[in-house]
Amino acid sequence: MTVEFIPPAKPIVGDLEREYVDRVLRSGMIAQGPEVATFEREFATHFAAGRPTVAVNSGTSGQHLGLLAAGVGAGDEVIVPSFTFAATANSVALTGATPVFVDIEPDTFTLDPDAVRAAITPSTKGIMPVHLYGHPFMVDEILAIAEEHGLDVYEDAAQAHGASWNGRPVGTLGTFAMFSLYPTKNMTSGEGGMVTCSTDELARNVRLLRNQGMETQYANEVIGFNARMTDVHAAIGRAQLTKVDGWTSQRQRNAEVLDAGLASIPGITVPVVREGAVHVYHQYTIRISDGERDRFRDVLKNEHGVGSGVYYPIPNHRLPSLSGFAPNLELPETERAAAEVLSLPVHPSLAPSDLERIIAGVTAVARAGA
Ligand SMILES: *Cc1c(COP(=O)(O)O)cnc(C)c1O
Repeated sequence: MTVEFIPPAKPIVGDLEREYVDRVLRSGMIAQGPEVATFEREFATHFAAGRPTVAVNSGTSGQHLGLLAAGVGAGDEVIVPSFTFAATANSVALTGATPVFVDIEPDTFTLDPDAVRAAITPSTKGIMPVHLYGHPFMVDEILAIAEEHGLDVYEDAAQAHGASWNGRPVGTLGTFAMFSLYPTKNMTSGEGGMVTCSTDELARNVRLLRNQGMETQYANEVIGFNARMTDVHAAIGRAQLTKVDGWTSQRQRNAEVLDAGLASIPGITVPVVREGAVHVYHQYTIRISDGERDRFRDVLKNEHGVGSGVYYPIPNHRLPSLSGFAPNLELPETERAAAEVLSLPVHPSLAPSDLERIIAGVTAVARAGA
C-alpha cells in the first residue's frame, strides 16, 4: 500500500498572493515602498494593538535590530532559553552582548522563572523569552521579575502570531517583539520579519538601522544595515494576513482532534495549554518518554507516511557556534526536552483522514513498543 506522505509543515500560497504580487510588479515599484508601509499598519492592527511596527527582511534581522535599537551591546547580558532556534541567541551575540542560557519549565518548554531569577547579575540588561511552538511564555512571572529588577523584555514571537495571555496579545508585552514571516511559520511573506515596538522612538531607531541609518535620503544619522523588506514580499504578507485567523482556528481544531486521539496513550504527553493562554499551535509537540522518540519518528515516516520534526535536537548551549558562551553548563529540563519532543503535523491543510492516520500511526507505534 502506498500512502501519500503527510509533511510536517506546508505553506499555503494561493490566488490572492499571486494577484497582490502581480499588482506590485505591474506598479514598477518593487523595493521597499508603499506596500511595506501598508503591511506594517495592517500587521500592527491585526496582531499588536496598533503598536509602532517595522517590517524587515527576516525575523532574525528584526531581533538583531530591535536589540541594537533598545541599546543592547558589548558588556550587557541578555537571558535567553537554550531550547529554541539559534536565531534567539545569535541576535544577542551579534550585538556584542552575551547570551546567558537558562533552563525551561517542563510544561510549556518556555523560560523557567526561577532559573531566570537565579541568572540575573549586575550586567543583565534584559530577558528574551520565546513563545515556543505558539504557546505564550510564563508572562506574569517573567514580567514581574523584569519589573522588580528594572530589566527589559524582548519577546521572541517568531512562532506565535495571534497567541495571547489573559487577553493580552503576544507582541504587546515587552520593549519590543519580533515576529517571523518565514514560509513554515503561521503566516509568511517569503522571508521577512516584523518588529512591534513599545515606543515611537524605538520604532524610529529600528527604521534607521533598517535603512543605512537614513530617515532623510543621504543624511545618514547612524551606522545601519540594509534590512529592508521589499514591496513584493509585503504583497505576499498582506494576502496571508487576510487568511491567517482562519488558519489559526484550523490549527486549534486539528490540535483538539489530536489531543482526543493521543492523550490516553501511555508514555505520551500531549501539549499543555495553561489556563489563560491562547495557543496558536505553530507546532503540536508531544513528549515521548523512555528514549523512544527517534524510533517513533522513523516508524511514523517509513511505515505510516507521517512526517514529524524535532525542534530542537541540540540545545543552543551545546552548539559549536554558541557553546563558548556557556562551557560545562547543565540544563536538565532543556536536555530532557531535546531528547523527548516530537512535533506532529498540525498545519491547516490537513484533511480529517490525515489526522486519523497520524493518530492511528502514533497508536500503532506505541503498541509495538509496549
Ligand atoms: C524562525 C525563528 C526565528 C528567526 O526568524 P527568521 O525569520 O527565520 O529569521 C527566531 N526565533 C525563533 C524561535 C524562530 O522559530
